[in-house]
Amino acid sequence: MDQAPLPIRSERIVEHLAKLATFSSSPPPEVTRVLFSAPDLAAREWLQARFVEEGLTVRHDAVGNLFARWIGEDPELPAVATGSHIDAVPHSGRFDGTVGVLGALEAFRVLRESGLNPKRSLEIVVFTAEEPTRFGISCLGSRALTGKLAPQDLEVLRDEAGVSFDSLRVGAGLAHLPLDALVLSPRYAAFLELHIEQGPLLEREGAAIGAVEAIAAPAAYRVRWQGAAGHAGTMLMSDRRDALAGAAEGILAIERAAVEWGTIDTVATVGQIAVLPGALNAVAGSASFGIDLRDIDLKRREAVSIQIREALERIARRRSLELTWEVVYEDPPASCDPGLVAQILESADRLGFGAMRMISRAYHDSLFLALRCPIAMIFIPCRDGRSHCPEEYSSPSQIEAGVRVLADCLRVLAGYGKSPDPATATVLPGRVRPR
Ligand SMILES: [Zn+2]
Repeated sequence: MDQAPLPIRSERIVEHLAKLATFSSSPPPEVTRVLFSAPDLAAREWLQARFVEEGLTVRHDAVGNLFARWIGEDPELPAVATGSHIDAVPHSGRFDGTVGVLGALEAFRVLRESGLNPKRSLEIVVFTAEEPTRFGISCLGSRALTGKLAPQDLEVLRDEAGVSFDSLRVGAGLAHLPLDALVLSPRYAAFLELHIEQGPLLEREGAAIGAVEAIAAPAAYRVRWQGAAGHAGTMLMSDRRDALAGAAEGILAIERAAVEWGTIDTVATVGQIAVLPGALNAVAGSASFGIDLRDIDLKRREAVSIQIREALERIARRRSLELTWEVVYEDPPASCDPGLVAQILESADRLGFGAMRMISRAYHDSLFLALRCPIAMIFIPCRDGRSHCPEEYSSPSQIEAGVRVLADCLRVLAGYGKSPDPATATVLPGRVRPR
């Protein structure tokens, strides 16, 4: 098969990434872009203008998922979709999610320039709030789109300041879109997400491309320890019901539970804690923390979860504390479609990029899309595996490799329509570049 390389321009993507990074609530090099904040709304507007400029048909849904469609020759066929998110956790970097959105835009652009006439429509999806920053729920847009968040769940959502999701949605100009018409229909033929790895393995192995075979199953729990607050000087040690001391013991038990399974795929984290009254000279009356628990094996994750809960209950009993345990979410792991994974590996090989199969330990919108259609993810390396921090970095050539593989996969998956004008038909598979 004779194919001219697609004229992907990494400098164009890098320029776009730099521009998108300016829509931020914190100063550079940090990026902070929280759902429906002023920078988020401005970023959405800027991005939408880029899609329109590219001749794509743009629409929103009721939660602000943004869709940009290149209408194929047969619009009735389920589309092939790609995309990611543009929200950014506080004080993070410019590559998480955005590479998958702006990379898709570049892929579409060069495929159009190359004269591709896709049989299926191709669509870029920009998911609302992949990060749980504002409402404590990850992948809000893709959950809603795949029926994992019902309209009544969305209606009761409030952020820490008490602002409702619904009022923000109205402020974002989405009031006219009914929440109950949200679920993805018709299904996509396939969904491919390009993303930075957010881990060290590709860099360590010297591979340009990761073909993701499965996405680890995340679960989150909220635990509250209730004891009795008191004066740090006058409350005798024997009389105390110290909620923070109980929580501290609990955190170590959680760490131990994950480590004891002896697998690198089981991870449990307590990353924040709230204590009341929260004074140097006061015994803590209550303490609450979240547990983030993930595993590639659902049965094992469930077993670890039970083990953790039992350990915390034992600690609470011994210390005469009341424990409440709330499930925030328990999502299943997702398997990628073997055919799509094979396509990624084949495209990488054809384009001369070293690739490896891997799993995603972070969750992504793809986890939820997997409920509706075949999915796969293309990973590219990021420096030292760092992400969610200003040091997050992928080089222009690393990004370009990912976009090339994405474009090649999209070209194959979209199928080919009528023969394009031979003057522009320079890169279609099976066609020789006209001279
Ligand atoms: Zn992401």
